[in-house]
Amino acid sequence: MNIIIPKEAVSELRVSMLPQNIEKLVKKGAKITVESGLGRTLGISDNDYKKAGASIEKNRKKLLASGDIVLRLRKPDLKEVTSLKKGSIHVSYLDPFNEPKLLETLAKQRVSAISMEMIPRSTRAQKMDALSSQASLAGYAAVVLAAGNLYKIFPMMMTPAGTLQPSKVFIIGAGVAGLQAIATARRLGAKVDAFDTRPVAKSDVLSLGAKFVEVDLGETGQTAQGYAKALTEEQLKKQREVMKQHCAQADIVITTAQVFGRKAPVLVTSDMIAAMKPGSVVVDLAIETGGNVEGAILGKTIEKNGVKIIGMANMSTRVALHASQMYSNNLTNLIDEFWNKEKKHFELKLEDDIIKSCLMTHGGAVVHPTFAPPKKEKKSHKG
Ligand code: NAD
Repeated sequence: MNIIIPKEAVSELRVSMLPQNIEKLVKKGAKITVESGLGRTLGISDNDYKKAGASIEKNRKKLLASGDIVLRLRKPDLKEVTSLKKGSIHVSYLDPFNEPKLLETLAKQRVSAISMEMIPRSTRAQKMDALSSQASLAGYAAVVLAAGNLYKIFPMMMTPAGTLQPSKVFIIGAGVAGLQAIATARRLGAKVDAFDTRPVAKSDVLSLGAKFVEVDLGETGQTAQGYAKALTEEQLKKQREVMKQHCAQADIVITTAQVFGRKAPVLVTSDMIAAMKPGSVVVDLAIETGGNVEGAILGKTIEKNGVKIIGMANMSTRVALHASQMYSNNLTNLIDEFWNKEKKHFELKLEDDIIKSCLMTHGGAVVHPTFAPPKKEKKSHKG
């Protein structure tokens, strides 16, 4: 069983597998081939991968055609899917809610495609949960980026030249990214307020030394997987009214509010930005799923009424080595969980809860119930 690891897109700094992870898998009996230049963005050479036990392949097409298992980070390019070996297993992000054509093409190629976004939120799967590992780093990186754009320091400082008041940070959405953002801003000495629609988030916010903003939205709640339920338009309106006052007082606003599988809600509108102090900074961490901030532009920093609005995608890429380390561990843990020690290969256990949740295509069809085309009803031949 040949495990192959192709290079990521040119714009991606993260690397899907680090040499230390290759070493672990080789020790288990895996045969691994990596594309030449895999670690180039992090200064990791082909020789480092060779030392870890991998073979190096320069010809990408040949590499793709030879893989029984393909491990990577970003979704595959549609044009390259036909180069994959029929019957192979492909593991990566797939963006399944927005990529029906990709799923269809993977199915046609008879590839069994696992989507890292769909790893379930169970205790057993936590170590494979790439959404969480990357979100946590994104929360950290967002605060550091915001701090670098603010013309103030975070902590209170009392000096003979005068007293500097601590900066105020407001975090909207206290999930994985939001909580890491709170922790980072607190470590730097800022005063932090935060809000989330899931009532259970309050105790997490308080435990990090931040203040929880109370908004009476009525019924909110969360799904069995721990994700927020979408709010009604009326609830969103009420939320924005309260958020407006908090945004106006904040030096930094970081938004992380997402609703799994749907477009992110707009929570910071232009009139709220107009009410903010010039020099303030807004970071929209939900920009890739539509954005929480009106006017934020994917991949750009813009300025409105003196307020900087940062819409950088892929925030965990800013700490690419640690992001790669976490993602490599997520992939290695997935392989390890389903590794047959006697036969020394990865077993795709179709009845396993984790596989059922993240396997998108198999046996020539889209098999995940959320994305599979509706079954055609058999015509009745009665009288
Ligand atoms: P996410 O990225 O989907 O959303 C980020 C946050 O935005 C969530 O906390 C959500 O409640 C919040 N949000 C949505 N709409 C909002 C609104 N209108 N206003 C304010 N906030 C809003 O979610 P996530 O961060 O990946 O995860 C959410 C929670 O899931 C975590 O806090 C955790 O409790 C749980 N979780 C569990 C596991 C596990 O059990 N293995 C793993 C990861 C996360």
